[in-house]
Amino acid sequence: MTTDLVVATRNKKKLAEIKDLLAGLHFNVLSTDDFPHIPEIEEDGETFEENALKKASEVAKITKKLTIADDSGLVIDHLDGKPGIHSARFAGENANDEDKNKKVLTLMKGVTMEKRTARFVCAVAIVNLKGENSIVKGIREGIITTEPKGTEGFGYDPIFLIPEYGKTYAELGVEMKNRISHRAKALDKTKKVLISSFL
Ligand code: IMP
Repeated sequence: MTTDLVVATRNKKKLAEIKDLLAGLHFNVLSTDDFPHIPEIEEDGETFEENALKKASEVAKITKKLTIADDSGLVIDHLDGKPGIHSARFAGENANDEDKNKKVLTLMKGVTMEKRTARFVCAVAIVNLKGENSIVKGIREGIITTEPKGTEGFGYDPIFLIPEYGKTYAELGVEMKNRISHRAKALDKTKKVLISSFL
């Protein structure tokens, strides 16, 4: 019998990445969209970990199923860690990815290469049927480009360059991104927790 695993997200591209990263574990992966009565959960924590845990706990309470949630974002040193936990709405409630990237590039205008350091952070919270939880984290270091490059992925992918590959996440493509990303690192740890606890 396969175990249901709810991924607490409505972001289809993020869900696709997570499904891909959990492939082979034989979970029946569901998402928030499979439970239309789940309300919007306010991300009002002060850290990625707090927000991931809040999302996973609330969704697990409603679905009564093993649940994971990720909270992720881009941390830019020159901007004192912004957009950070506010990555999703950095350019306002209705702004799209292009608007957010434009805002970052405008704020980073004229900043030298050495000072364009940044990292993507992903915290994943796992909450089981008893309400017990684990939290893991993955980080990928990079550089903010001076213009968007590449067309794949989502969010800030076109402006986040991985020095080792000389390409942005959006240029690397989803398959390669899924091998090396902040989310891949966090999901790798998530897999270990799921295998040792739930399979
Ligand atoms: P949340 O984790 O759903 O709150 O979303 C965080 C926001 O961070 C997303 O809306 C994206 O703008 C950004 N983000 C998170 N992960 C990625 C990624 O892998 N690539 C690009 N942007 C990301």
